[in-house]
Amino acid sequence: MDEQKVTQSLRAQARELLESGRVDCVIGYEAGPRDRARPVFVYDPDQVDRLIWDDTCVHNLVTYLHDKKKAPRRGEEPPRVAIVVKPCDSRAINVLLAERQIERERLFVIGVVCEGMAGPDDGLAARCLRCGDRVPVVHDVLVGEPPDAPAVEEAYADLAAVEKMKPAKRLAFWLSQFDRCIRCYACRQVCPGCYCTTCMFERDDGLWVDAGIELGPKQVFHLGRALHLAGRCVECDECERVCPMGLPLSLLNRRIVREIEELYGHRAGRDEELTPLLFELGDEGSPI
Ligand code: SF4
Ligand code: SF4
Ligand code: SF4
Repeated sequence: MDEQKVTQSLRAQARELLESGRVDCVIGYEAGPRDRARPVFVYDPDQVDRLIWDDTCVHNLVTYLHDKKKAPRRGEEPPRVAIVVKPCDSRAINVLLAERQIERERLFVIGVVCEGMAGPDDGLAARCLRCGDRVPVVHDVLVGEPPDAPAVEEAYADLAAVEKMKPAKRLAFWLSQFDRCIRCYACRQVCPGCYCTTCMFERDDGLWVDAGIELGPKQVFHLGRALHLAGRCVECDECERVCPMGLPLSLLNRRIVREIEELYGHRAGRDEELTPLLFELGDEGSPI
């Protein structure tokens, strides 16, 4: 992939969208410290040259759409936003559309053809080794030429080692993982599907779980979060990427992804028309 060409296309697209007034903000990537991209919010056409594209654009930017749902001031409209997405990120847009968290008409989706992102070591990120998606499932404009379908690793090969363990050993494995968690909530903050105004795991009057750092509350936090994402997790692995303690959260999430697909043939965000699996929405868009 010609990253320079994609970068130039992104800048041209952003300039046009901002100059025409079609959007108020473009969410994309800019060069960050240590040769890694970082998210950027561009409001001014004169700033579009900050945008870049390379294989360090790992972040799922869809999570930032939650900050753009409300009008900045009383009497004003919420901002119209353009967002740069990879195929995995684009599935999160479909989830938020289905859950009526964002308005399609306020959104302009700049899809980028993806050939995989760099992992912490030299090769591709683990999620990219398993991924054959090259074109975002939702986009208003597509940047880049779709390549041939790649050879991918078996989707759940890494789960097999955990599933082979006897139940007691598997429980000990997961408890030892949960025990390392420092409850920093980075995994929750980065997740496009975690957007409750008040997280039930952070309430000091929680009915089932308190905000403690003991193993019990941490176990409930992890199992609860995984279940809250059942049928909604888009397998972007952002939670695992940002975890400072290196918890293998993707093993937990993808165990449920596989279960939901086997039971209901549902894979979150694959289709713009896909309704939420585990709840219905009332007329006002709130769950019933
Ligand atoms: S998981 Fe797929 S779509 Fe997402 S960055 Fe990796 S290769 Fe691209
Ligand atoms: S990011 Fe890691 S350490 Fe922080 S709450 Fe999540 S699992 Fe725990
Ligand atoms: S749970 Fe993790 S992998 Fe799933 S959508 Fe949220 S951040 Fe992405």
